[in-house]
Amino acid sequence: MSKDYYAILGVKRDATQEEIKKAYRKLARELHPDVNPDETTQERFKEVTAAYEVLSDTKKRQMYDLGSDPLASGGGFGAGFGFTDIMDAFFGAATQRGPRSRARRGQDALIRLDVELSEAAFGTSREIQVDTAVVCPSCAGSGAAAGTHPATCEMCSGRGEISQVQRSFLGQVMTSRPCPMCQGYGTVIPSPCTECAGDGRIRVRRTLKVKIPAGVDTGTRIQLAGEAEIGPGGGPAGDLYVEIIELPHPVFQRRGDDLHCTVTLPMTAAALGASIELETLDSAERIDIRPGTQSGQTITLYGKGVPHLRGVGRGDLTVHIDIQTPTKLDERQQELMRELATLRGEERPAGQFAPGQQGLFSRLRDAFNAR
Ligand SMILES: [Zn+2]
Ligand SMILES: [Zn+2]
Repeated sequence: MSKDYYAILGVKRDATQEEIKKAYRKLARELHPDVNPDETTQERFKEVTAAYEVLSDTKKRQMYDLGSDPLASGGGFGAGFGFTDIMDAFFGAATQRGPRSRARRGQDALIRLDVELSEAAFGTSREIQVDTAVVCPSCAGSGAAAGTHPATCEMCSGRGEISQVQRSFLGQVMTSRPCPMCQGYGTVIPSPCTECAGDGRIRVRRTLKVKIPAGVDTGTRIQLAGEAEIGPGGGPAGDLYVEIIELPHPVFQRRGDDLHCTVTLPMTAAALGASIELETLDSAERIDIRPGTQSGQTITLYGKGVPHLRGVGRGDLTVHIDIQTPTKLDERQQELMRELATLRGEERPAGQFAPGQQGLFSRLRDAFNAR
């Protein structure tokens, strides 16, 4: 599965080229081999450079946004021999006798999708564009031009491998290797299909509808079976994964399926009590602030969080209360405050000490009383 190049560079998914360049320069300065020659840093430097290589190139970036990694080994179309082929060539051919099939399973693809908190919470359906290989309509995946057929390879007579007797210090050994003429397929395509150049597939941009269930979170992957790259030679398609990235919400922070928010109240409201209205994700709730509410107190609205992805029920919404001390009091207000202080016997507050903090607090009190 491909890496999240945006996260590696620490940029947003809609970052401009200028922002990407800036992010890369900054990281490259920190991670450059001349500065930090240790191995971990070097791995990170390579990763960052690869991310920059993809995201700084408009074409590669678009390809990546549409689900394929331009740097993945053997990835993409017509990239030639990938890792599997090499493994086949070295190990597979030794145990697996006979020609191998041209048909191979296609690669999986990954698309990351930004969603709003409310979409993640209650589910939605979105159209996404994917750019993947599909079966070539001209040759139906065979790779041979219309009216022609693959022919038996003359070099290996269709066996897909070539055996050789070699003299070595162990005596005579028989080795076999994949036929270089047909790459082990046992057949050659004399006249390749012109539309797909013999690969049996072509790239097409499609629009897919994705149903996003309620309760998804950043990192949730939705699997669309068989919607990614079709394999070469008419092989089955890989699966498409849609990875959810939840956008930050201006009011609510999400922790698991619980939501948190902060409500700021004036000191007077906290002292006298108040009733405030709060827009949750899906309803308007009236919250009673009890007289004498302290800063840092919380009020929990049960079942007003994000619905659980699996099972029933919802998380909670916790409202954190923040009390503001008034600033910029005019003369009349100061007078009233002083009067209130007198009525409450608070003209010379003793203060209350938290254990272990006496030093700091008594110094503060001394500073206060000295005025
Ligand atoms: Zn074709
Ligand atoms: Zn051959």
